[in-house]
Amino acid sequence: MADYRNRGFVHVPGVLSDDEVREFLADARGQLEQHTKVSWDEEGRGNVMDWVVEPEAKSAVMRRLALHPGITGIAERLAGQPLRMFKSELLRKGTTGSTRTPLHIDDPAFPIAGTPVTLTAWVALVDVPVERGCMTFIPGSHEWPDDTEPQFAEPFDARPELVWWPRTSVPLRAGDCTFHHSQVVHMAGANETDVARISLATVYMDADATYQPGLEVAYQDEVIGVEPGHPLDTVRYPRVGSLGIILS
Ligand code: FE
Repeated sequence: MADYRNRGFVHVPGVLSDDEVREFLADARGQLEQHTKVSWDEEGRGNVMDWVVEPEAKSAVMRRLALHPGITGIAERLAGQPLRMFKSELLRKGTTGSTRTPLHIDDPAFPIAGTPVTLTAWVALVDVPVERGCMTFIPGSHEWPDDTEPQFAEPFDARPELVWWPRTSVPLRAGDCTFHHSQVVHMAGANETDVARISLATVYMDADATYQPGLEVAYQDEVIGVEPGHPLDTVRYPRVGSLGIILS
């Protein structure tokens, strides 16, 4: 808990059992094979990764993972309040020509207003050593000074001092999870191995968050069926964790 508050991320080993990893990975591979994917390409550098959107709506197995009580329970304790799922993405960093995920923060890409507790649970479904493109964080960078506007990319433009802050790379075993705050500066390396990096990244937000469109970010999530300024309280954004069950 204190670690998460101070650093903006935490590594929790062994959140999933071996049996769960096997089941979720088989379903993930099937979805990556079968469904249309969004591709993030960096001009002149190659493919960062591709992903299936809303995998939790495409199979009951992936829905179980996105709403996994072990994972959402931790997310809720870290946030210290009731949460909803905002979205889930089934990510793949491929084996050929993949490039690193540039430094960024997630927050400006989320069109939501609410208590700033938004966080992402990132579950490894294969082993992710440094060489397979594990995530690297700048510990403590989630605390943005009042006079600085958090921006999606190029965080060093806004906070040049961060260039000199230490970074922490977090290799994960299959079934491990990291939780990271939506304003912590992070990146991931290239995949230099011959096994694709497959993970599920699920974003949880304040249960009372409202829809706030119009942020200046090219990569903007679509919110359907909610009027601006209204709570994201539809079935698309389910309550998660035990507080959610009690309060719903
Ligand atoms: Fe990110």
